[in-house]
Amino acid sequence: MASSYGYPFEQQHCLSISQFSRPDIETLLTLGNHYLDLDVQKSKERSMLAGKTLVNLFFENSTRTEKSFEIAGRRLGADVINMSVVGSSVKKGETLLDTAATLNAMNPDILVVRHGASGAPALLAQKVSGSVINAGDGVHEHPTQALLDALTLRRHFGEDLGGLRIAICGDIKHSRVARSDIQLLNVLGCDIRLIGPPTLIPADADKWGVDVFHDMETGLEGCDVVMMLRLQMERMSGAFVPSKREYFHFYGLDRSKLGFAKQGAMVMHPGPMNRGVEISSDVADDPKVSLITSQVESGVAMRMGILHALSDARDGVA
Ligand code: ASP
Repeated sequence: MASSYGYPFEQQHCLSISQFSRPDIETLLTLGNHYLDLDVQKSKERSMLAGKTLVNLFFENSTRTEKSFEIAGRRLGADVINMSVVGSSVKKGETLLDTAATLNAMNPDILVVRHGASGAPALLAQKVSGSVINAGDGVHEHPTQALLDALTLRRHFGEDLGGLRIAICGDIKHSRVARSDIQLLNVLGCDIRLIGPPTLIPADADKWGVDVFHDMETGLEGCDVVMMLRLQMERMSGAFVPSKREYFHFYGLDRSKLGFAKQGAMVMHPGPMNRGVEISSDVADDPKVSLITSQVESGVAMRMGILHALSDARDGVA
């Protein structure tokens, strides 16, 4: 699959969905799909990143993203190093750029960065010589999550997602996932709705190519997909909702609210879930309606695809 995707993918970093053209996105999703097929084979190891070093640099906690990049890198043959920021000199006051300079001196080929400040991975990309992948920066973007969400949707609904009605619900204000998903799903022609209390939907959201609703019943009408978001308490200064109980009552997805969506509608959540706050376990754990496990599976394959494309671009293969 070296350069056989037939389109010159030239992006050396993955910082934001907005940097990608439609053909770039198609290339990435094609590669993600290729690695999904590999996932069901007995031997999953490949050597395309053999001799390369991938550093996972996480300044914020992560389970799925960090682990899936680790597995994806190893399956492609890279040496993977997880930088534990807790034990590193970042705690001793070293700045982001000092850390970057130190890491750069070790010549990593790929740096996967999660940081609480929007724009931190983009800043690093200017200072290091390897490829930088944004694994979530503040409330700005989480491009690899959006790509794995699109891959999950294609697995379930088929290649053409045009016209698919998708509701993104809950804490849009603090969600980098929502910002990346909205851009990507718009490129793929989906009909996007945002549903949440006015306090959790940014004032300019109606300019994002979406329709905004404040109640689940009207908002979910005719929706094929209900994407729930975590209530991100750690990013809130002050109270944005009266109480978790009241939030669940109005916006938490349970069977009866799912009934407002189209029959056969599927549920997604990027994780980690606050069960009983934005989603009930009953809905989240029902394989007939939930794509949440499929999202996690797609995560490894999609990240292998991203690593493959960036590495080819850097080596001038594509
Ligand atoms: N895991 C996602 C993120 O890092 C969603 C979340 O934390 O709620 O943004």
